[in-house]
Amino acid sequence: MAVAEFLRSMITVAKHALKKPVTYQYPEEQKPYAPRYHGRHQLNRYEDGLEKCIGCELCAWACPADAIFVQGANNTVEMRYSPGERYASDYQINYLRCIFCGLCIEACPTRALTMTGEDFIADVTRENLIYTKERLLAPLPASAKTEPPFTDAEIASRGIDYYGGYAQTPALTSADRAGLAPEGDDGGAR
Ligand code: SF4
Ligand code: SF4
Repeated sequence: MAVAEFLRSMITVAKHALKKPVTYQYPEEQKPYAPRYHGRHQLNRYEDGLEKCIGCELCAWACPADAIFVQGANNTVEMRYSPGERYASDYQINYLRCIFCGLCIEACPTRALTMTGEDFIADVTRENLIYTKERLLAPLPASAKTEPPFTDAEIASRGIDYYGGYAQTPALTSADRAGLAPEGDDGGAR
C-alpha cells in the first residue's frame, strides 16, 4: 500500500516537473487581467476636455470604506468645468482604504468615475496612496484644445450633446443666485 502511494506521488511530481512554469517576473512582467478587472479609478472627460464629474458626491456616499472625498463647487457662465450646475473642485480616493468593490462606479450618474485595468497601486509613503483629482483625471483627449474651465459661449459653439438628449443644466448667473437666495444667504457662493 505504502509503495503504491509512493509511486502515485512520484507520478504527480513528475507530471508537474514537466509543466511549463507559470511564474511572472513581477513587476517587470505583468499577468494579463480580465477585461472587467477592477483596477485603479479614473475620472473621465468629454471629447472637448470638459469633466464628466458633477460633484454630486454619490460615489462618496456609496463607498463602504469611506475612501472617497468630494468637494463640489458651482460652475459659472465664465468658468465651467462640467456640463452640470456643479463640478468637483477637489476629489480624492484613499487607496489605503479602498477595497476595489466598484460600488462607487455603479453609483455615478454620469459615468464620470470608472475603473481601469491598472493594478500598480504600491508606494512607500501613505500620502502617495491618497490619489488627488489631478492624478485621477483622464488625460486630455486629442480632440480637446485646452484644459477646462471654458465659458458657456465656447461650449455652445461646439454643439456637443453632453447628456445624450437630456438637457444641460445652465449655470446660474450672479443675478440668478441673488434672486434665489433667502435673505442673509450668499447663495452658496465660494
Ligand atoms: S471601489 Fe469600493 S471601496 Fe474603493 S472607493 Fe469605490 S466604493 Fe469605495
Ligand atoms: S464621480 Fe460621479 S458620483 Fe462621484 S461626485 Fe463625480 S459625478 Fe458624482
